[in-house]
Amino acid sequence: MGTTWTNSNLGYPRLGENREWKRALESFWTGQLDESEFLKEVKELRLNYLKKQKESGVQLIPVGDFSLYDHILDTAAMFGFIPERFKENSQKVSLSTYFNMARGTADAPACEMTKWFNTNYHYIVPEIGDITPVLTENKPLQAYREAKDELNIDGKPVITGPITFLKLSKGYDQSDFEIKLDQLLPLYVKVLNELKEAGASWVQIDEPSLVASFSKEDVRFIQKTYETFANEVPGLSIMLQTYFEAVNHYEEITNLPVDGLGLDFVHGWEKNIASLEKHGFPADKTLGVGLIDGRNIWRADLESKETALQTINRSAPDADKIIQPSCSLLHVPVTKKHETKLDSVLRDALSFADEKLEEIVILSSIVDEQADNDVIKENQQALQRFSETYRQQSADLTKQREALPSQRKLSFAERKKYQDEKWNLPLLPTTTIGSFPQTKEVRVARQQYRKGEKPPEEYKEFIQNKMQEWIKIQEDIGIDVLVHGEFERNDMVEFFGEKLNGFAFTSNGWVQSYGSRCVKPPIIYDDVTFDKPMTVEESRYAQSLTDKPVKGMLTGPVTILNWSFERDDISRKEVSYQIAVALSQEVQALEEAGIEMIQVDEPAVREGLPLKREEWNDYLDWSVHAFRLATSNVKNSTQIHTHMCYSEFQDMIESIRALDADVISIETSRSHGELIESFETAVYEKGIGLGVYDIHSPRIPSIEEMTEMMERALRVLPTSLFWINPDCGLKTRNTPETIDSLKNMVQAAKAVRKSQ
Ligand code: GLN
Ligand code: ZN
Repeated sequence: MGTTWTNSNLGYPRLGENREWKRALESFWTGQLDESEFLKEVKELRLNYLKKQKESGVQLIPVGDFSLYDHILDTAAMFGFIPERFKENSQKVSLSTYFNMARGTADAPACEMTKWFNTNYHYIVPEIGDITPVLTENKPLQAYREAKDELNIDGKPVITGPITFLKLSKGYDQSDFEIKLDQLLPLYVKVLNELKEAGASWVQIDEPSLVASFSKEDVRFIQKTYETFANEVPGLSIMLQTYFEAVNHYEEITNLPVDGLGLDFVHGWEKNIASLEKHGFPADKTLGVGLIDGRNIWRADLESKETALQTINRSAPDADKIIQPSCSLLHVPVTKKHETKLDSVLRDALSFADEKLEEIVILSSIVDEQADNDVIKENQQALQRFSETYRQQSADLTKQREALPSQRKLSFAERKKYQDEKWNLPLLPTTTIGSFPQTKEVRVARQQYRKGEKPPEEYKEFIQNKMQEWIKIQEDIGIDVLVHGEFERNDMVEFFGEKLNGFAFTSNGWVQSYGSRCVKPPIIYDDVTFDKPMTVEESRYAQSLTDKPVKGMLTGPVTILNWSFERDDISRKEVSYQIAVALSQEVQALEEAGIEMIQVDEPAVREGLPLKREEWNDYLDWSVHAFRLATSNVKNSTQIHTHMCYSEFQDMIESIRALDADVISIETSRSHGELIESFETAVYEKGIGLGVYDIHSPRIPSIEEMTEMMERALRVLPTSLFWINPDCGLKTRNTPETIDSLKNMVQAAKAVRKSQ
């Protein structure tokens, strides 16, 4: 392959092999470390990560991607977007202001946090408002200098581009986009010029927004931005980096006056390669070839990656190329080195951040024809061993699925008669979403049990006592439909993953979710199948304690999928169907045990929506189908509930309806009833559980405010559809708060009932 090939990384995990970063942050917040100790510690980590990348043989090492909390917060702070409530006198943004914006103070609520594109990483939403931006510090420059001075690394500064930054910000009118952009561009120019003067050759400007749907008008803003940079910072090589999907408006984007364009050839493979084949790639630009999956934990098949490189090369024969991950490695765990407890066949098929860097380096050596054949051979053998041992899709699974109905026997209106008769509930029945306070006592007991310090019988008794305690509390408060409280569950996905076949759990596979919060997603490595009942024992026990109905409580197929690392040899749809079939067996087991009101939670459906609008329907269709596979094979009188924590339904109400759940409980309080309007306009005719109070706040909601909320909803839809509940599970609340809030909720429901 004739042109120049280099390799690069786009970003490295902040956490550290043993979550040292998390510990440093939290020790600083609790005052165990003072500011200088803290800064010293994180600097050491940062330098360590750079050293590691250098030693792996990566040529272009990103600097400035490291953060003390979040890179979007860093960008906001760098440009002086400090909301009034956090303002201090000096222009420089202090560490305490920075963390206050992220975490809030007693008097100033934190800035909003939201999901970073379609990942499980959350960023802090910048509040632009009327603030005129100023450059408070040149963060990428500091990072560049540090790497150069301390380690003699000529790093590649990384900065979030102005288009993406503004698209993700709030507090201004979209029609002012250009005004805001014009204010920002000179500051970016200054940052870039200083980088150039300091000697930086490549700068990576991240613009993941370029893969989401955007308008022609936006194309003009993008052109304006990159023309400005080309004119005002000549001689600096800009790598315009996109990821998470294929870039939109390919022709316009490839014609921008930048030196390089980075494309995602994993998650955007089909569309990017189609554009490349159709339109070619400019010979005078460098193509960033994102070929190693930065989102998932599977080892790359080096031979098929080599074929992919050749395919790409054919359409861009004259351009220089850089082999790199598909996106920042922020979204995968650091290293698989410590995963000694995993089955070795599986372990050999995994690749976390450090292993991905090795893959990038090996791929470049393949291009240079310098590759060590043994390495490639070992790679092929390991993957073959893995696919021979696992992933033997059995025909039985398909048969099982095909035999399963994906539609209830009767329509909602018809089966409701059976349900009303069976359940005989009052108007506006009250219930909760599932979990009750996971107190320290509960967590400690679980830990002791897991470590083998508490014998299983003792643990079981402990859980049963908790259920007794809370069934009694619910009865005393006067709740109509009870729950068992989920005391036996650590997490709503892990709990099921541990009991289903096809899931594996790492010991140290942490990824950053937000701030210092990490998650350890399960790995779906094989066909997911049902082993034995997972929730029946607790549900049956709880039901034996009361004459009131106790809801069974499951996590839905799409949520389980979206919160796991999934296999990449079959489609997400296929995986969700496998989970659905397994869950349908659990539903059946519950029914057989006399649990005939069953809630299947799907809080993660919305967050899995594809970045491109035109792909929504397909995703929603299979998500709905998966839910229905799990929940349709039941008696007419069995009542299926579902729960979603959010309130934005306007654009997916048809899919919500298509779930065909008998009752859906949703958030109502924080959106001040806005949500109910979307149900009204769509003439939604099934049961709706009104989330009448916000469980995220320790505040006890008053009877009056909840009464008012209910009355507002009743004005637009018939009373007979409504249930009354909090807006999510109560596991994060304490016991007195929970009891007092639920008492008020029940009183409010009773008051409204009377007035009907
Ligand atoms: N049943 C779960 C609980 O109550 C639902 C959690 C969620 O929606 N995120 O905890
Ligand atoms: Zn919820």
